[in-house]
Amino acid sequence: TKALSISQLHKTYGNGFKALKGIDLSVNEGDFFALLGPNGAGKSTTIGVISSLVSKTEGEVSIFGLSLDTDRVAAKKQLGVVPQEFNFNQFEKVFDIVVNQAGYFGIERSVAMKSAEKYLRQLGLWEKRDNPARMLSGGMKRRLMIARALVHEPKLLILDEPTAGVDIELRRSMWQFLQEINAEGTTIILTTHYLEEAESLCRNVAIIDHGTIVENTSIKALLKTL
Ligand code: ADP
Ligand code: ADP
Repeated sequence: TKALSISQLHKTYGNGFKALKGIDLSVNEGDFFALLGPNGAGKSTTIGVISSLVSKTEGEVSIFGLSLDTDRVAAKKQLGVVPQEFNFNQFEKVFDIVVNQAGYFGIERSVAMKSAEKYLRQLGLWEKRDNPARMLSGGMKRRLMIARALVHEPKLLILDEPTAGVDIELRRSMWQFLQEINAEGTTIILTTHYLEEAESLCRNVAIIDHGTIVENTSIKALLKTL
C-alpha cells in the first residue's frame, strides 16, 4: 500500500493565485521522503491540503488508501502533522497539550497519558511537562510539536521545515530521533529547502517548483545529476 497518494491536486487561493497546478505524488509505506523546493514553491500548501487545514480546489488525496473526501476521519487517524508555526496554546501545560491532542482521535485518556509520557521522554521534554508551553525555548517548542503529532501513533508523519531556525546540535538530535521512528516503521515525509537535510535523511525525493513536481527520484539519483 501507498502511505500517501496524491493525484492531480490543484489549489487556487482566494486571490486567484494558483499555488498547486496538478501535483501527482505517491510515497511508499516505510519511506523517508523529502519534498524539496524553493520558498514559495507550494510545499506548505501541499501539506496544508493533506492535513485538511487548506481546502483543495481539485484532485484526490489518500492516506493508506483512505480518501480524505470519503474516509476523512479514518485517514486523519493515520496521519500526524508538524506544521511550521507553533499552533498550540502557549498557556497550556506541555503534558496537557500532548494528551489532549490524542482526545481528538478518540483515544482513551489513560492510553493517551502513557503515549504522551513516552514521546515527551524520548524528545527530552518530560522534565518540562508541567510548564506552560510559553516557558519553553524555541527548540523545545519544536520538539513539543513533534510529540503532539505522534501521540496517537500515526503511521505517516509529515513535517513542514522541521529544522528551520534550529541550531546544529538540536538539528542532529532531531534527525536521529526521526531516523529511529522511521526504522520502527513510521513513514516520514518532510519538506525542506536544504538539499543537505534531504541528503542526510531521506531515501526518495520530489522537487516542487511553481506548484508543479519537476523531479521525483531517489536521493542518490538526484545527487548524481547535480
Ligand atoms: P512553500 O511552502 O514551498 O514555501 P507555500 O505553499 O507556502 O510555499 O506557498 C506557495 C505560494 O502560494 C506562494 O507564492 C505563496 O505566496 C502563495 N500563498 C500561500 N498561501 C496563500 C494564501 N493564503 N493566499 C494567497 N496565496 C498564498
Ligand atoms: P478539524 O478536524 O476540526 O478540522 P483541524 O484540521 O482544524 O481539525 O485541526 C485542529 C488542530 O489539530 C490544528 O491545530 C492542527 O494543526 C492539528 N492537526 C490537524 N490534523 C492533525 C494531525 N493529523 N496530526 C496532528 N495534528 C493535527
